[in-house]
Amino acid sequence: MKAMVLNEICSLKENKNPLELVNLPDPVPAEKEILVKVSRCGVCHTELDEIEGRTPPPAFPVVLGHQIVGTVEKAGSKASRFKIGDRVGIAWIYSACGKCSFCLQGEENLCESFKATGRDANGGYAEYATVLEDFAFNIPAVFSDSEAAPLLCAGAIGYRSLRLTGIKDGQRLGLTGFGASAHLVLKMTTHKYPNAKVFVFARSEKERDFAKELGAVWAGDTADASPEKLDCIIDTTPAWKPIVEALKNLEKGGRLIINAIRKEEIDKEYLLKLDYPAHLWLEKEIKSVANVAKRDVNEFLDLAAEIPIKPEFQEFELEEANKALVELKERKIRGAKVLRIA
Ligand SMILES: [Zn+2]
Ligand SMILES: [Zn+2]
Repeated sequence: MKAMVLNEICSLKENKNPLELVNLPDPVPAEKEILVKVSRCGVCHTELDEIEGRTPPPAFPVVLGHQIVGTVEKAGSKASRFKIGDRVGIAWIYSACGKCSFCLQGEENLCESFKATGRDANGGYAEYATVLEDFAFNIPAVFSDSEAAPLLCAGAIGYRSLRLTGIKDGQRLGLTGFGASAHLVLKMTTHKYPNAKVFVFARSEKERDFAKELGAVWAGDTADASPEKLDCIIDTTPAWKPIVEALKNLEKGGRLIINAIRKEEIDKEYLLKLDYPAHLWLEKEIKSVANVAKRDVNEFLDLAAEIPIKPEFQEFELEEANKALVELKERKIRGAKVLRIA
């Protein structure tokens, strides 16, 4: 099969073609696995973190990509959940032990043996992928393959982030950073909490205009003061400045959720601007989001179908994966980037 593989950690600034097009043997599904013929695979900021070594794959070469939509081509001898030809999705959660206290509570995102698709196992920048049938997801019929792909990561983790804010209807939510995940969170929020007000902080005017188009009551630059204090804020940026600036806008007892698998080091000194009384005192909380549980993917896909959320997307050929990644790095973002494979 054709696959775009990462052979080593590198800097995208110096190497604009980190992935190499190669031919790999078609993967063979194990007993409880299914073989998925990949139709679309979303391109995620986490791929940049893998390429640049902030969350490095344990072995090379590796096929990246964890927002996979395709059809079941073959099933292992003990896999019976899907029929051949069924449409399925594969998300960031590739597998977990199923036995530890976290797994038993449905928080398998925190499992010690958590494995990520496209990092710890080959992912979807390829014509085929395998996964345990229990970790494949049904895709609601209302979505096209390209619409469904970005929902599988940005949507599911956005859903988990929103859940962790503890927001109630009528409250004020801030979003700092306005990429794929945040724009989906905005849509979820206006549907689930019709009286909530959403405030968006983004560096580019384009993103701010887009946020207002989608229903944000206010949009400003990263360091701006919001016109009202915010009950909760979700950060989806790779930097530190937005964290410090968000804390200043947080209401007493408010919660900041950091939705980032890793932060970049470039502006870490910005943390020295942290002023305890202004940014943290009065019971402000900070909590991170780690991975996604199966529950988040399933619940989010149902919610997205009900609304319905149709993400904006831009398609690239599999061979153009490097171009899509570089554009993502350069923040040429409007909606999500999706690789078209079959
Ligand atoms: Zn992702
Ligand atoms: Zn476990």
